[in-house]
Amino acid sequence: MDDSKYERRVTLLCPTCGSDQFAFDDDDESAPVTCSNCGRQTTREALIEENSENIESHVAEIGEEVVADAAKDLNKSLRDAFRGSKNIRLE
Ligand SMILES: [Zn+2]
Repeated sequence: MDDSKYERRVTLLCPTCGSDQFAFDDDDESAPVTCSNCGRQTTREALIEENSENIESHVAEIGEEVVADAAKDLNKSLRDAFRGSKNIRLE
């Protein structure tokens, strides 16, 4: 079995400028998320929602057979992206 196809990197992008770097307070989930490039402020929930098209495109690439699970995993990945680091740096 090759598990690599289940490894996915999800990039959160600023809806305004497309930057993938954000600053946020790791200790306060209700604190705003600030785009490091344009300074746009949003919330974690809104940022995830605004990136939902990105999620769907990832799901489309993965294939129909794992769509349902993938959607769940990707949502989790997006949420996990906020853990453990003050800045999200994804390539
Ligand atoms: Zn921005």
